[in-house]
Amino acid sequence: MIGSFLNVCIYRLPKGIFSKERFSFCPHCKQRIRWFDNIPLLSYIFLRGRCRHCRQRISFVYPLVELIGGLCFLFLFVYLGLTPLFFIYSLLICALIVSTFTDFEERIVPNEISVGGLVVGLLISFIYPLLQGVSSHWTGLFNSFLGALVGGASLYLTGIFGNIVFRKESMGGGDIKLLAMVGAFLGWKMVLLVFFISPFFGAVVGIALKLKEKAETIPYAPFLSLGSLISLVWGKGILIWLGF
Ligand SMILES: [Zn+2]
Repeated sequence: MIGSFLNVCIYRLPKGIFSKERFSFCPHCKQRIRWFDNIPLLSYIFLRGRCRHCRQRISFVYPLVELIGGLCFLFLFVYLGLTPLFFIYSLLICALIVSTFTDFEERIVPNEISVGGLVVGLLISFIYPLLQGVSSHWTGLFNSFLGALVGGASLYLTGIFGNIVFRKESMGGGDIKLLAMVGAFLGWKMVLLVFFISPFFGAVVGIALKLKEKAETIPYAPFLSLGSLISLVWGKGILIWLGF
């Protein structure tokens, strides 16, 4: 059900119509979707992927997001149980899922997610400093702020370097804000790990896209999200292995 809500964010936030329509509607015929056609995953299967009214195909992204969301929450629940960290990391994963798909489809990471998430990350680190591995509220806030700074600055500097080398805009502002947001949640060590992991996925898919579609730009948020997810799960182990 949360995945279903994330779909609404993915479709509406880049278009700026988040609160304009109260009900779900078909993007083709604009017909209102009734509740029984709006059950996560199941309705897609029952309708065999087509709108009840106009019979146009429903994008497979909708059930995909619902499935990914559900699996991520289940995975976190198995590892963390119903702890504060479970809810905090679930929130971060929601932000990453929305950014991944808006970037894929519209090459946009909405500010509501990146900047909004950054503020939420700072606030949670103050209220629940254990997220940053400390007990003092102010140290929690400071670590979160440092994480956001390191996350944002690392991509910003990469962008400047890229602009000089390629002589054109090479890193989107949305990606910079997104990694700052991840830093606010995970702290500076973990966000540096994300910074170093993500390009490996990005390079593989980027080269494939370039060869196949001659794409000028590749969406980078999906790789930052994948890097963040890996750091979230195995980051502590990787950092210990690296000697930090
Ligand atoms: Zn329709």
